[in-house]
Amino acid sequence: MKNISHFIAGKKADGAGTKTNEVFNPATGSAESSVRFATMEETRAAIDVAERAFADWSLTPAVKRARVMFKFKELIEKNAETLARMITSEHGKVFSDAMGEISRGLEVIEFACGIPQLLKGEFTEQIGTGIDSYSVRQPLGVCAGITPFNFPVMVPMWMYPISVACGNTFILKPSEKDPSPSILMAELLQEAGLPDGVFNVIQGDKVAVDTLLTDPRVAAVSFVGSTPIAEYVYRTGTENGKRVQALGGAKNHLVVMPDADLDQAVDALVGAAYGSAGERCMAISVGVVVGDIADVLIEKLADRVQNLRIGNGLENDPDMGPLVTQAHLEKVRGYVEIGLSEGAQLVVDGRNTKVAGFENGFFLGGCLFDHVTPKMRVYKEEIFGPVLSIVRVDNFEEALQLINDHEYGNGVSIYTRDGDAAREFSSRVKIGMVGINVPIPVPMAFHSFGGWKRSLFGDHFAYGPEGVRFYSHLKTVTSRWPTGIRKGAEFTMPVMK
Ligand code: NAD
Repeated sequence: MKNISHFIAGKKADGAGTKTNEVFNPATGSAESSVRFATMEETRAAIDVAERAFADWSLTPAVKRARVMFKFKELIEKNAETLARMITSEHGKVFSDAMGEISRGLEVIEFACGIPQLLKGEFTEQIGTGIDSYSVRQPLGVCAGITPFNFPVMVPMWMYPISVACGNTFILKPSEKDPSPSILMAELLQEAGLPDGVFNVIQGDKVAVDTLLTDPRVAAVSFVGSTPIAEYVYRTGTENGKRVQALGGAKNHLVVMPDADLDQAVDALVGAAYGSAGERCMAISVGVVVGDIADVLIEKLADRVQNLRIGNGLENDPDMGPLVTQAHLEKVRGYVEIGLSEGAQLVVDGRNTKVAGFENGFFLGGCLFDHVTPKMRVYKEEIFGPVLSIVRVDNFEEALQLINDHEYGNGVSIYTRDGDAAREFSSRVKIGMVGINVPIPVPMAFHSFGGWKRSLFGDHFAYGPEGVRFYSHLKTVTSRWPTGIRKGAEFTMPVMK
């Protein structure tokens, strides 16, 4: 079985750790490679390398760092299909969706190409007589990224292009479930001219993560994953004096107002709930139906969910592929049982779905629950699978309250033709990313991505201008040259008279 290596100091390294994880093709259900987890010593060795590389890279002019990003962008475009096939073979999402993931990651590389402009500071001449003041942004040092299984290319790209373009060095700890793309990205960065040691990959588990979180040479940690681990990473990292941004889980609602175009709303719900088999942090997992349109909406929706085309993501471009692992499949099935035991009505049951020729794959058909209530676990908890819950409410205020009371605050959407309702909703909703007649409001790379409440720990959203702020220190300089008038020692606060 193929071993998926680390990538340290510009070279693949098999590693000496004894703990391994099998990496599956979710469509066939067979283990195709394995990944060896880094030990604490190996992780520290990667930090050594990144720390040494920082000395030169941080002094490399921003315009030269940007040129590496321009070249890297070209190489990602050239290798997009290879990368997408890797994603589909280890994650399971369909090939066209994997290509979409790469496009959304590319946007961040394009943004990072503008780093000389983004790092420009401010200058004020003559803040006092003969005194000028200016600000600059400088790199932090060694940064680490710990990423989830559901976007093995895009989520790391939310982090390292900006971090590296800002002049930091980087250690990526990808998900152990789909680690192959991390190595191809490292090789392409090297081909683009990135000096060895600036970008490193450590395969691993909690041992590697804890080493990154506690080693004093790591200056900043970006995390994306589930909420319990996000909270742990945030707490441990900040206790150890690091800058941390930790993005967690989600339960995203889509509100359908009685005046909405129902066919548009159904399209939105089907795509956003079942695309990527619901394994997206911006997936819609709750439909909130306002007023008396629920019966009509459910009928239209049920028909679409029953007819989802499910299959191997590398063949015939189906709507939905398998779930990532057998364990995750069982967890999601378990939630369907929980919903039934809690009294929700299972309108579409995808549990018996089989895909011909792929009987051992981790497939689950689309599941649709109606009459879900806020007390149910299927409403409160993140399922992360192709299960959509419909909650019926009487009015706009009830819909808004429901969403604001939920512990997660990543994304939300409203479907309506009423501008007043949409404006009121976007203003009062306690959620980080809001869509108006847009089902998955993932911001473009020149804005920033993040949630509120227990969907994000830390002060900064990911990528965009917030990414530049996260990956750089602000410094302000106040300067006077000795040709000015000599005033002698001053013992009071300098003030402008
Ligand atoms: P996860 O939390 O299980 O794993 C994320 C990363 O943390 C992986 O690299 C994993 O190896 C590591 N990890 C796991 N357990 C750990 C532990 N005990 N100590 C230290 N590190 C540990 O998440 P996942 O299952 O890979 O991804 C799915 C989750 O990610 C969902 O909750 C989803 O909502 C979330 N997600 C959030 C966003 C966002 O932007 N908010 C984006 C994508 C995914």
